[in-house]
Amino acid sequence: MRMKNTLALIAHDNLKSKMVDWVMHNKAKLSQFNLAATSTTGTRIEAEVGLQVQKYKSGPMGGDQQIGAGIAEGRINVVIFFWDPLAPHPHDVDVKALLRIAAVYDIPMACNQASADLIIQGLIP
Ligand code: PGA
Repeated sequence: MRMKNTLALIAHDNLKSKMVDWVMHNKAKLSQFNLAATSTTGTRIEAEVGLQVQKYKSGPMGGDQQIGAGIAEGRINVVIFFWDPLAPHPHDVDVKALLRIAAVYDIPMACNQASADLIIQGLIP
């Protein structure tokens, strides 16, 4: 049996509504993945889109690092991360570490909506 890929979703506060809209728009495709997310992002997706999400800690409390660990351990295969380049974040170093580990393990990672569209279209045409 082929294992489903796990796709992680993270959005900084100013981009959470955009993420919810993107997930809603791609609901049918995303339902073919196991979904994981940082806490607040995942809570909003479950409440507003109705997809089940495995929720990690909030980003500032270590959620980005948990997702990074999931990548290193082979449990997370794709990341869609709407990070906010116009706002400062207390967990900036964690964000950087997540970008790095995704590059180390060569997994598809989108950091904005245009890239997320291409990745989801490439994974589920
Ligand atoms: P959150 O974490 O989904 O819990 O808000 C994301 C972040 O802000 O890094």
